[in-house]
Amino acid sequence: MPGLHTIVCLKVVPKSEEVSVDPETRTLDRGNARSEINGQDMNALEAALDLKDTYGGRITILSMGPPFFEPFLRLGLAMGADAAYLMSDRAFGGADTLATSYTLAAGIKAIGGCDLVLCGEESSDGATAQVPPGIAEWLDLPQITYVSRVQVMKKARLLRARRQLQSGYEMVETLLPCVLSVKLGINEPRFLDFQRWEWAMEEAPVTVWTAADLGLDEGYLGLPGSPTAVSSVGAAPSAQRRGEFLSGTPQEEAQQLLERIRPLVRLS
Ligand SMILES: Cc1cc2nc3c(=O)[nH]c(=O)nc-3n(C[C@H](O)[C@H](O)[C@H](O)COP(=O)(O)OP(=O)(O)OC[C@H]3O[C@@H](n4cnc5c(N)ncnc54)[C@H](O)[C@@H]3O)c2cc1C
Repeated sequence: MPGLHTIVCLKVVPKSEEVSVDPETRTLDRGNARSEINGQDMNALEAALDLKDTYGGRITILSMGPPFFEPFLRLGLAMGADAAYLMSDRAFGGADTLATSYTLAAGIKAIGGCDLVLCGEESSDGATAQVPPGIAEWLDLPQITYVSRVQVMKKARLLRARRQLQSGYEMVETLLPCVLSVKLGINEPRFLDFQRWEWAMEEAPVTVWTAADLGLDEGYLGLPGSPTAVSSVGAAPSAQRRGEFLSGTPQEEAQQLLERIRPLVRLS
């Protein structure tokens, strides 16, 4: 195997702290928010760069979204990726996770496949975590989710990943090619390589594909390809904090505290 070809699925999201909720429609108003690369996708890209440093090969960035995503893909090229593809077409608009994963899987096939697809675990705006498993299903590839560490046995074409769970972790192995989704913060994404800056920003081609370029069936794309419908939205009640000041000597305060805590604690 000459080197790994990794495709990193990278989504551009609005900065969460700048997104507001429209009080009338209760939908997200992203209009005034600046954008950034989804945090987990930066971790996925760093994991891919780390594999490239170790095993050689190349990295392709793939994204589905509007034209303003392009400069963000160039930042990925400046970090060390080798090529970038943006799937951008009005036909892709309004896609739910089924249509998004279908479109990205079609992009991966059109790129010519790869050894490894790396995604973030979830996006900060949609946050369903459904797209990576969807890609794996459309491509009929094995998938590992919640990944916090990756190791490749290149000769055997075997990948070993650590899955981070609430109660610990699992080590899972699978043959390449496969799809992984990585957890937020598993590594420290590197700074841009300023020696690549000019190439990445001005010379490197970012290939833009429409649905027609790939001959995709519009019935699977965007709104027509999205069976999910939002029937209603509601505000989650915010937790009410209750504060109480205890008074007395330290012993009396400790006794009062104990009386309040005792009903909440089950002693075995
Ligand atoms: C019911 C419903 C209705 C929606 N309606 C709209 C709408 O009308 N308009 C709209 O703009 N959005 C809409 N969305 C959001 C849109 O469908 C999602 O942003 C998109 O499907 C990706 O899902 P996610 O953000 O939950 O991805 P997740 O599954 O949480 O993302 C996981 C990983 O998948 C990869 N990934 C996800 N999306 C992309 C992408 N576009 N390009 C590259 N990689 C990607 C990234 O690596 C990411 O870290 C809707 C979502 C739902 C659930």
